[in-house]
Amino acid sequence: MQKIVSFEILETLWEMLNKSVRDTSPDKSKTLLNEVLIKGWASLADIEDILDTLDSRIYNHTLKIEKICEIFDIAIETAYYKPSRLSIEVLGNESLRIESLAHLLIILEQIGFNTRPEDLVNLLLPKLTEKNTIFLSASELQVFWFTKYRHRNSPLEFCTDEEWWRQDSKTKSIKTSSSYKVSATFNDSGCIIHLEIRPPKFRKRPRTFSTRCKECGYEWVKGDPESSMYHRREHKKRMSYLDPKPNMRMTKIMHNPDFELVTTNSLKWKHKEMYERARIFKRMFHYDFVQWHSQAGDSDPNVQGYLFTNEIGAITGACSFRYRKYGHNIVWILDWVWVSPKHRRTGELSKRWEHFKTKFGKFEVQHPISEDMQSFLNKNPI
Ligand SMILES: [Zn+2]
Repeated sequence: MQKIVSFEILETLWEMLNKSVRDTSPDKSKTLLNEVLIKGWASLADIEDILDTLDSRIYNHTLKIEKICEIFDIAIETAYYKPSRLSIEVLGNESLRIESLAHLLIILEQIGFNTRPEDLVNLLLPKLTEKNTIFLSASELQVFWFTKYRHRNSPLEFCTDEEWWRQDSKTKSIKTSSSYKVSATFNDSGCIIHLEIRPPKFRKRPRTFSTRCKECGYEWVKGDPESSMYHRREHKKRMSYLDPKPNMRMTKIMHNPDFELVTTNSLKWKHKEMYERARIFKRMFHYDFVQWHSQAGDSDPNVQGYLFTNEIGAITGACSFRYRKYGHNIVWILDWVWVSPKHRRTGELSKRWEHFKTKFGKFEVQHPISEDMQSFLNKNPI
């Protein structure tokens, strides 16, 4: 975050950060914070009192609170004493709402001061995390995210509007007592022109870009932790059928001559395996729906699914048949066939073709027929 400020502000900040820190009185600041929490507002005088107890470098008020609020868009408002019914005048003080005070303490910590924002944040968080809280103000958002991003925010930069990076400049760095690294850049005349404040836990985030996994085909955003997590989850799922390993449940039933068959009465795990393959078939050919009812089962009493399984029990593909009535005639239709890329052109379908012809007679193949399927049918007529 870069802020353009005057030379005077840069110089003041640098001077303040270079001062040594005296002992603070956190107990006193907690008492003061509790007082303003009850009021819901903190006047500028209250804030000066609180800051005095927290960090002696801010003590001399060389940098006005109003200025920091202005730079970081923290709203100073007038808080009025509630007038009595008979009064015709009201008195007000320039103040910050309590969440704006928390925001200010967070910003001051990011600048390198010891302002213990956690004391106030912990008092405010319960209300913000309530289930029925829907909207948050900018300051409340800072409170909400405080613990997650504390000491991890992107570096703060203050600079004058001089083009500091083009100059033949000198840099000095210091480390604050809270381990923030402050680097100041000076021009030829020795005037400070740039200040960077880097929090101790800041790590440059990798740049994000869209990519497609070569193995599983999933499109995700590299560098985005959430997208990366979704990819890992989907990768594992997809690889289980793209690069199938022996399926323990399958190996246990391979002695059964009809072990590849899946009907409406089959066990749930078989339906799940069918569904996953029907789902990838749908994705490949951009169909509107998955041609297997659900992961839990398929209620069609006439559906005949097959889980192609190789000699080591790995499920290499699947297909399913359903029948249609034309008047009194029943015609079986091969709805879809999907074979994992690793096992294509290895005869998975052709070695079952004769069995299908025996069982389903002169069945039809659901249109549209892919090029691969058409060339298969040319070689293996029904
Ligand atoms: Zn992947």
